[in-house]
Amino acid sequence: MSRVVAVVGGGVSGLAAARVLAGAPPASLELRDGPAHQEGGPDFEVVLLESDDRFGGKILSREFRGRSVDFGPDNFLTRNPSANELCDQLGIGDDLVAPATSSASVVARGRLHPLPPGLILGLPPDLVALARSRIVSGRGLARAALDLLALGAPISASSLGLSPEETAIGRASGGAVVASDTGPEWSAASILVSRLGRELVERLVDPLLGGINAGGLDQLSLVVVAPQVARALVGHRSVTRALRLLARRTPKPSASTGAKIRPFFLGMRGGLGRIVEALVADLQDRGVQLQTGAEVRALRRAKNGYELETANGTIVADGVVLAAPGYVAARLLVESAPVAAAELGSIPHSSVALVTLAWPSGAMSLPQGSGFLVPRCEGRIITGCTFLSAKWPHAASAGEVVVRASTGRYGDERPLSMSDEELVEAVLGELRELTGTSVPPLASLVRRWPRAFPQYLPGHRRKIERARVALGELPALELAGPSLGGIGIPACLTTGERAAVEVRDRLSR
Ligand SMILES: Cc1cc2nc3c(=O)[nH]c(=O)nc-3n(C[C@H](O)[C@H](O)[C@H](O)COP(=O)(O)OP(=O)(O)OC[C@H]3O[C@@H](n4cnc5c(N)ncnc54)[C@H](O)[C@@H]3O)c2cc1C
Repeated sequence: MSRVVAVVGGGVSGLAAARVLAGAPPASLELRDGPAHQEGGPDFEVVLLESDDRFGGKILSREFRGRSVDFGPDNFLTRNPSANELCDQLGIGDDLVAPATSSASVVARGRLHPLPPGLILGLPPDLVALARSRIVSGRGLARAALDLLALGAPISASSLGLSPEETAIGRASGGAVVASDTGPEWSAASILVSRLGRELVERLVDPLLGGINAGGLDQLSLVVVAPQVARALVGHRSVTRALRLLARRTPKPSASTGAKIRPFFLGMRGGLGRIVEALVADLQDRGVQLQTGAEVRALRRAKNGYELETANGTIVADGVVLAAPGYVAARLLVESAPVAAAELGSIPHSSVALVTLAWPSGAMSLPQGSGFLVPRCEGRIITGCTFLSAKWPHAASAGEVVVRASTGRYGDERPLSMSDEELVEAVLGELRELTGTSVPPLASLVRRWPRAFPQYLPGHRRKIERARVALGELPALELAGPSLGGIGIPACLTTGERAAVEVRDRLSR
């Protein structure tokens, strides 16, 4: 009799987990070769349980002004090629498309300033380009330039939350070995401000790196939000010099998707929701039982596995992948794994609300580029704005301009207490100041994402490690999703596939 594996949560992590459990080859490079993928391996009955009435979780494309528009993520990074590979496997890789424009601006003292070229996750290796951008004042620039004198102590692995074995890159690029490499992990801001000064970090790095996580660098772990940067800093006295070495080692992006070198970001013609549609169709073909409206309300240990109490009845499973948000997993694990539940339940989250707006082209002349970011110190409600029609021409009807403003971040819950009308008004008021448009929009749509972004506080990786150790005592149960560390679609997808491989291996022993 084949064994049953239940996957809880039908976002990209759960869909990817179900697909591998149903026998598909993983799309993640590190899982593709070797024993992880066993063609014709154990035969599982896979049940995917999703509480909502649709699959996809945060990935959501919907019609807006006659075009399919993304109301969650609109692109993914290709550094981890798993999402790209998955699209190829699903037969929709040819519809991946690079943004038509990738330059962006940041708001400084009420005006838009184009970002300097060559930034590495918001960090500038080139201070001349930074000076030209006028994002920071002369004083802020002088403070940042002090870093080049390399007067501080070498940056220790422990302050970055790295173990000594993980520091090969920093050392390979001339970083020193730090004698007393023990101590607590610092926040990203503590590390960067001490080297580059507060102004540069607040006005440039925080809106980019913090913005990706809807958080602030004061609370985020650098090794989780920018692992390659953290590793490159180990043992260096100057952040800027370490970044220059990192930039030299990083391949330059290409403008075409077909070439061997991929663009940094890819979106999908027709919206990223097409990946969800293709995944669901693939899972149907593979015989996965797909259930929507099936909220898992309780998870109990049963004789050799688990009982899952769902809105549709009870399911008995030999193995489980928990791909619902970390705070849901925490609730479900409270009885069977209280230590893991406490660790997962203590991860804070931030909420965001997106306001999508359309104008006739003549009424709104968009500034150059794909959009802009707003530093927290500007005190605005908008945290960033994507010029969707410029970035993705397929997302707007001819003669219309479509813009998506993001609001809300860790520590700024204002959008939660505002009605949709109030939020749209507030956003329009700020767009008026920043872009000069005063014409009322043709349409507006608010999409709220409560508790959407886990906040990776310093010590996050150890927290997850402790949760994993505690879960190791349970039979065949694994976690997936952004709580593990890594908000992006490719990272989530990889966590789903890894969880599937681990559950499968544990059930095959
Ligand atoms: C506004 C926004 C913009 C973003 N932009 C980008 C971007 O540009 N690029 C990028 O790479 N990433 C981006 N992200 C992040 C990325 O979309 C997410 O991290 C990723 O999609 C999470 O996938 P997931 O499957 O792990 O979780 P989710 O998508 O959250 O899926 C979890 C699923 O579990 C279900 N669930 C919850 N409770 C239960 C239960 N009790 N029983 C059963 N099911 C349950 C939920 O309904 C949901 O469908 C963005 C996220 C947001 C919100």
